[in-house]
Amino acid sequence: MALEARESLRQQLIDETPSWYNPYLHLMIPTLFGLGIILVGAVYLENVSWWEYLAIPITYFLSNLIEWSTHRQFLHRRSRLAPVLYEQHTPRHHRLYVTDDMSMRDRREFRLTLIPAYGIMLIFITSSPVTLFLWFFVSPNVALFYAGTTMAYVVGYEWLHLSYHLPQNHPVGRLKVIQRLKRHHAIHHDPQLMQQWNLNVTVPIWDWILGTYKVRQG
Ligand SMILES: [Zn+2]
Ligand SMILES: [Zn+2]
Repeated sequence: MALEARESLRQQLIDETPSWYNPYLHLMIPTLFGLGIILVGAVYLENVSWWEYLAIPITYFLSNLIEWSTHRQFLHRRSRLAPVLYEQHTPRHHRLYVTDDMSMRDRREFRLTLIPAYGIMLIFITSSPVTLFLWFFVSPNVALFYAGTTMAYVVGYEWLHLSYHLPQNHPVGRLKVIQRLKRHHAIHHDPQLMQQWNLNVTVPIWDWILGTYKVRQG
């Protein structure tokens, strides 16, 4: 899609932004919700055994797989289960931002990169059967680590993805670690590659394991 066509799409999408939309609230509501759950969980931890801490890396590792597979299954293929995920991602986010032009121009574009503010609450609710199972059948500490790590993962996803699409020369975008992760995601933003490559948006662990890690275009 030529730059001119993308600019007119950008204008159209920005014009569609409801007047009540606040980009900072969109970022802060899920952030505070996630941190709130982590904090409440931390208060309830009791006599943690060494093996219970393993719930943190294991949950992180599995969340990274869920990120990979959800991106592949629902964000780049229209599914009957949740077509909105595809609508937001492929025809909007991916048409607007391409490998060599990843930057937002306007703060209202947060809406085109972040998941809806209630998304983290839905993730908390849908993962609660696992939390309850762990609470009753493994240990309450493991359940709290699981819920906390899941929330930290979602908050991290939002902040990282947003940082890849920040305006050029933004100080956060200049950090070495962000530049590396951004490069990985920018390659995913090549329309020829987006359906199969670089499906992790955060740390590309499962891209590496499953062989969907591409270092350069072409
Ligand atoms: Zn993106
Ligand atoms: Zn994508």
